[in-house]
Amino acid sequence: MNLKKEIEDIKNEISRELNLSTSKKEIENIRIKYLGRKGIITQKLKNIKHLKDEEKPLYGKELNILKLTIEEEIAKRGQEITKTVKEEEQFFDWTMPGDRRWLGHLHPLTTTMDEIVEVFLRMGFTVELGPDVETDFYNFEALNFPKNHPSRDIQDTFYLENNLLLRTHTSPVQIRVMEKIKPPIRIISPGRCYRVDNFDSSHSPVFHQVEGLYVDENVSLSDLIGTLDIFAKAVFGSSTRTKFVPHFFPFTEPSAEVLVSCPFCKEKGCSTCKHTGWIEILGCGMVHPAVYRSVGYDPDKYSGFAFGLGIERVCMPKYGINDMRLFFENDLRFTKQF
Ligand SMILES: [Zn+2]
Repeated sequence: MNLKKEIEDIKNEISRELNLSTSKKEIENIRIKYLGRKGIITQKLKNIKHLKDEEKPLYGKELNILKLTIEEEIAKRGQEITKTVKEEEQFFDWTMPGDRRWLGHLHPLTTTMDEIVEVFLRMGFTVELGPDVETDFYNFEALNFPKNHPSRDIQDTFYLENNLLLRTHTSPVQIRVMEKIKPPIRIISPGRCYRVDNFDSSHSPVFHQVEGLYVDENVSLSDLIGTLDIFAKAVFGSSTRTKFVPHFFPFTEPSAEVLVSCPFCKEKGCSTCKHTGWIEILGCGMVHPAVYRSVGYDPDKYSGFAFGLGIERVCMPKYGINDMRLFFENDLRFTKQF
């Protein structure tokens, strides 16, 4: 057989096989087929020794050139395939259905706060906000807290440098608003409050309140009771009853704590209401004359009421949450339920 023809045929066959190959594995199989230990070219090189002496140099030279050519072609095809695979990986199919994305949502405390604010907005109140860092004057003095009142105790209040403190309630906003404008005033003020407290199932050093203030001429105790009764029915359901229990706050006189009938047991008693049938949600009262004097109002001309309700205290019975820590630990298993 003509040597040149034989080599040409092998070259053509290898080119054909390489062009058909689509993976590194296939190229490796081609390499083994021709250049492996028992490969076609390897065998031919071994067989040179059986040739006639004058044929050996030419045959050997041509086969070695063929071997190098094949190695080059295999390497070239390998690079081509690597490039194609990378291009395929970069290809993005816009018609493929996407992964499901979870939508975020509001925290239960935020939802409850919004709901409370919404009820009072419908009754003609407007929202006012105040700073978390306060002075002793706004947090205590103007609200008629005597110098030796237990709430001023260093154990209850987070004191900061320069006689500043973290507000222990949202009531300082009452003073800030009354300093700015004259009655009629009808405001609510949601926000964070701080007290030195344990972090347990019913306490947290940070908690949330909504403050309310209504000042005008001839505002009476029955206005207070009516307003908060409407509020309780709006949040806990129309069959909810309210109970006003006498209490003491320095900045209101008379003062009361408001209890709502337990929405779970309808006053029969359950674990949520600690078997009393009632849940305490807020403190309130008629604004103390001393508070009016501290902002320059005439106590004989104006009257009004104020209330401060704990958002956690409303949110917990509303959703059947029995541990306050759950609000602040940000465990998704908890927050995803709302
Ligand atoms: Zn109950």
